[in-house]
Amino acid sequence: MRTWAEIDLDNLAYNIKKIKELSHNRDIMAIIKADAYGMGAVPIAKELSEQGVKIFGISSLEEGIELRNFGIKEEILILAGTFNEELEIAEKYNLQVTLTDTSQIEYILEKKMSLCVHIKVDTGMGRVGFTIEEAKEAIKKCQNIGIEVRGIYSHLSVADESDKESIDYTKKQLDKFKEFENIKNIKYIHILNSGGIINFSEITQSNLVRSGVIMYGVYGEGIIKDLKRVFTLKSRVLFLKELKEDIDISYGRLGKGHRGDLIATVTVGYADGFRRELSNGGTVDIFGKPCEIVGKICMDMLMVKIPNDIRGKVKIGDEVVVMGEDIFEKSKIVGSSIYELFTGLSRRVSRVYLKNGKPHIVNNLIGKV
Ligand SMILES: *Cc1c(COP(=O)(O)O)cnc(C)c1O
Repeated sequence: MRTWAEIDLDNLAYNIKKIKELSHNRDIMAIIKADAYGMGAVPIAKELSEQGVKIFGISSLEEGIELRNFGIKEEILILAGTFNEELEIAEKYNLQVTLTDTSQIEYILEKKMSLCVHIKVDTGMGRVGFTIEEAKEAIKKCQNIGIEVRGIYSHLSVADESDKESIDYTKKQLDKFKEFENIKNIKYIHILNSGGIINFSEITQSNLVRSGVIMYGVYGEGIIKDLKRVFTLKSRVLFLKELKEDIDISYGRLGKGHRGDLIATVTVGYADGFRRELSNGGTVDIFGKPCEIVGKICMDMLMVKIPNDIRGKVKIGDEVVVMGEDIFEKSKIVGSSIYELFTGLSRRVSRVYLKNGKPHIVNNLIGKV
């Protein structure tokens, strides 16, 4: 294997139990959109359903169908809205949908569908959803004409930020959502995402949390001490050279190698999702030592300088930790978020799932091995 994401299912199982505690024992909707943030939706869903998760959140119809095709029987909600022409397929696959405007209710009625819906209310995200008043009307309308409203929900935009302005904003969102605290005949009332679970789980106006990125043991500020890290991106040393003279390294000649340097070529590149902003100055770890990337990251490879204290040890084939505990620092260098680094991992990166500390399933381009 050249480059792989190691995904520790034992740590995932540990985290989901902890998140249940952090959420004051509420039910958990596990958010596994975008291929479970790049970790692989099907194996992640299977592990989570073994751990007792009863409902999943995804973004698109196809993501839901994939889970059904691979035998996931739990409730599934499409979070990111649905076009009218997708509703019949959602019904066929027993996927719950998010309603964001009234015309959808008429469409469902007209087509006599029996769909299970969640009403989305916009309390301050400014993305999709009804206003509070519209949402109340929509709920009434659905209930009058026999559409089952399984959930009412909203989304927080700054729950993971700790400055006073953000905290006040989140509190305002939560206050608006209080309207629905005592609503009758709706099973799920939900607003807390990862940031909300960490910072606002004392609220009363919800009975279900939507747990996303924290399932993988990371969060806005990096690692959460109560949780265990699930994900590590790994690669290997392909080639080694001790420089006989000063040379320029990689495209654009940005990297400068000096006589005597030991330079290793590693089999990971930007086409794997390892961001090019980490060129010349970012690091990867070999034998636990940060090794500086020299020159531009190529599509499939990158070069690093081996520090003196491990010079005698490194050989071809050795494992390289490309991204792990340092994913937060790396996201800062890239000028992005950990979410974007996770979801940017490409299809050719193998996914290796560990269970009881050992590789359990390996998914790669040519299927399962
Ligand atoms: C992505 C998403 C989540 C999960 O977000 P995290 O920050 O990863 O917890 C929750 N709810 C909705 C509506 C989302 O789109």
